[in-house]
Amino acid sequence: MMFRTRFAPSPTGPLHLGHAYSAMLAYDMAKRLGGEFLLRIEDIDQSRARDSWTQMIYDDLKWLGLEWSEPVMVQSTRHSVYQKALDALWKQGFLYVCHCNRKDILAAASAPQEGSPMIGPDGVIYPGTCRGLVNDIVNPRPQDAALRLKLCGERNQNHNFNEVGEGPDGETGLIISTRAQMITEVGDIVLSRKDMGTSYHLSVVLDDAAQGITHVVRGHDLFEATKIHVLLQDLLELQTPAYHHHDLIRDDQGKRLAKRDDARAIAKFRDEGYTADNIRKLVGLPC
Ligand code: GLU
Repeated sequence: MMFRTRFAPSPTGPLHLGHAYSAMLAYDMAKRLGGEFLLRIEDIDQSRARDSWTQMIYDDLKWLGLEWSEPVMVQSTRHSVYQKALDALWKQGFLYVCHCNRKDILAAASAPQEGSPMIGPDGVIYPGTCRGLVNDIVNPRPQDAALRLKLCGERNQNHNFNEVGEGPDGETGLIISTRAQMITEVGDIVLSRKDMGTSYHLSVVLDDAAQGITHVVRGHDLFEATKIHVLLQDLLELQTPAYHHHDLIRDDQGKRLAKRDDARAIAKFRDEGYTADNIRKLVGLPC
């Protein structure tokens, strides 16, 4: 099988050194292995995405010397694909409508008998307030509603993936999560947000499959979320790619770089006369 990887930025701010590292690492691997490097614009959050940031992604990546196969996948054009998957999950009874807002969830999760709220890879673990509400799955799925995945089923069923890089605590090789662990450590995650009609987790899984990605290269901040992605791949009967999680580039104080950290923006280095090779050296990649 041909090695195929991707870089999947969200156009919600300037790319910084951390993005450059991730993109160049994936690109170098594809080159070395005679594989393919693809690009995907993850713009499902239309309240934060801007065309000008998308344009800057193209400019920055070209300046870094990267080339990708066309066409670029753009998530905002793939609404119907996400809806079809949600319909299928709804019909199988895997989803339920959630009426809670952030405040409700925090209040329920912090109730005295609950202790302090448990945090999973998708934030506060949902206390299950709306889980028991009856949904008539014979009827069409409600539109414009938040939908959660009902995590249940065989508690000893495994959801496995192959880590070919390293998680934040050095995790590597075959990573196994049982359904029971997912139920307690992840909970019922939102698969469709009211304002988006999808979610990061659902879209990323469907799009990696549609692009035929064999290796996902990304920062180890997404290592825990990968367990969600593998569970979704199992439910949606999609192939699980290999995952290569890598270290995060940090600032001089050891803090992880953020989109708002303009000081590390690629465009800034570009304007200051750096070259792509200078950036490679800065992030520790061979020229
Ligand atoms: N769009 C995500 C980001 O910009 C990356 C998702 C992924 O690589 O799976 O952080």
